[in-house]
Amino acid sequence: MDKDALKKIISHSKEYGFIFPSSEIYEGLNAIYDYAHNGTLLKNNIREYWWKSMVQLNENIVGIDSAIFMHPKTWVASGHVDAFNDPLIDNKDSKKRYRADVLIEEHIEKLNLKIKKEVSKAEKRFKEKFDKKEFLATNPRVKEITKSINEIKSKMVSAFEDDDLVLVKKLIDDLEIKCQVSGTCNWTEVRQFNLMFNTKLGASEDSSMDLYLRPETAQGIFLNYLSVQKTSRMKIPFGIAQTGKAFRNEIVARQFIFRMREFEQMEMQFFIQPGTQEDWFNQWKKKRLKWHLNLGIESDCFRYHDHDKLAHYADAACDIEFLFPFGFKELEGIHSRTDFDLKSHEKLSGKKIQYFDPLLNKNYTPFVLETSIGLDRMFLAIISNSLKTEILEDGTSRNVMNIPKPLAPNKLAFLPLVKKDGLPEYTRNIMKDFIHEINIVFDEKDAIGRRYRRQDAIGTPYCITVDHQTIEDDSFTIRDRESMEQKRINLSELKTIINDELSLNSLLKKLDN
Ligand code: ATP
Repeated sequence: MDKDALKKIISHSKEYGFIFPSSEIYEGLNAIYDYAHNGTLLKNNIREYWWKSMVQLNENIVGIDSAIFMHPKTWVASGHVDAFNDPLIDNKDSKKRYRADVLIEEHIEKLNLKIKKEVSKAEKRFKEKFDKKEFLATNPRVKEITKSINEIKSKMVSAFEDDDLVLVKKLIDDLEIKCQVSGTCNWTEVRQFNLMFNTKLGASEDSSMDLYLRPETAQGIFLNYLSVQKTSRMKIPFGIAQTGKAFRNEIVARQFIFRMREFEQMEMQFFIQPGTQEDWFNQWKKKRLKWHLNLGIESDCFRYHDHDKLAHYADAACDIEFLFPFGFKELEGIHSRTDFDLKSHEKLSGKKIQYFDPLLNKNYTPFVLETSIGLDRMFLAIISNSLKTEILEDGTSRNVMNIPKPLAPNKLAFLPLVKKDGLPEYTRNIMKDFIHEINIVFDEKDAIGRRYRRQDAIGTPYCITVDHQTIEDDSFTIRDRESMEQKRINLSELKTIINDELSLNSLLKKLDN
């Protein structure tokens, strides 16, 4: 784990107006963050990319925006009251709290790394003769590690399925898993901890109703399923998309905005005919990975992780994991949720929630395929992947954020070369041509080199420098954030660059191809 990389991201985010710790003047609030100006712009752009790629590009996906407060029975039906628990365990020496399942999964990951090491050693030894498949199937050491991984997995799955927390603890003891802080195996028992926040609706103690802050946005979609289907006249298969806040009283809320107690989700529930879920599951897995890769981030940074331990509502689940500074972790979940939620709501509410299929000429409860991504996690994926410190030829260094251009907070920075001779006024005049279309900034303070650095640090793809020649022929210098190269272009060339490289449309068009 590269602790310094994360620290750098946190301090850069604060210094350059992306993310502030919440309530800082009162010493902050654990795992709660506020987005500053540049952060808000970037977050809005990510949300818009997601929303448009779901709702605008798919004629069979519609959107909603449901309330955070929902009838408390919602969470009984969904299983969250009974089962939205994390198994927690404390180390008695360091007093650090962990999720028991995560401790075991991290242990498995270490074993997987051992296999990888064996593979790369053999690759070097056998060179072009190396057959990876054969090696994995026959090498005694690899076979031994694979066997113990499978044993641990099956013990873990059955312990969680039987809700046998004593067995979970025994597994942690048997594997001699150590606390990262104290280095000891001195663990408490494993306990279940419900992650939902409670609140009250109503003024008086007697008449008020206990409510929960929603731990996922999906239930708002299930409760509205029938009305949406009827009003939008959608036929199965169709989807409902929503973005919005969710709240979880996380046990281990660390790693900056990776795990927050208040965060935003972007979820899409796709309603399908029962029996077709496997096919749709595979289709959405592919589609979602394509959405990520379309941003130009290297494919090595992503991997699928199929779940062994399934949630109570799912018959298949896969994470798209991203290589964060602290290793590969879940960025997005793709879940085959069966008809669990709609059926449970139908049962508890007594209202029929079904679909009449005109092709099959019968009623049924649709199955649901869900894609669910945390907006804040996507934000962290983007900034952690894009922040680089480069040593330049003259020995100085610069911080640059290579944010995918159409998502950058500001697309262009307009910089009058000097603060006189009418250049600032002329610059502002040119800016009028762009202000309705994209986010741009104006900066006239300090030497031009320092201004370039400031824009590099917030990921502005291009700086436009207006000089005396601009007044004569309307040409200006454009400087590229990545290569730092400069060239002279005119207004119409700049418009082409905006269209082809900087607009969200350019990103959406690539996705469509
Ligand atoms: P994890 O295993 O990391 O706790 P999860 O499996 O509980 O995540 P889901 O319930 O599938 O997560 O939620 C869907 C998405 O919401 C996740 O892939 C993640 O991007 C995001 N998410 C979930 N919990 C948090 C959180 N506490 N803070 C930020 N984002 C979150």
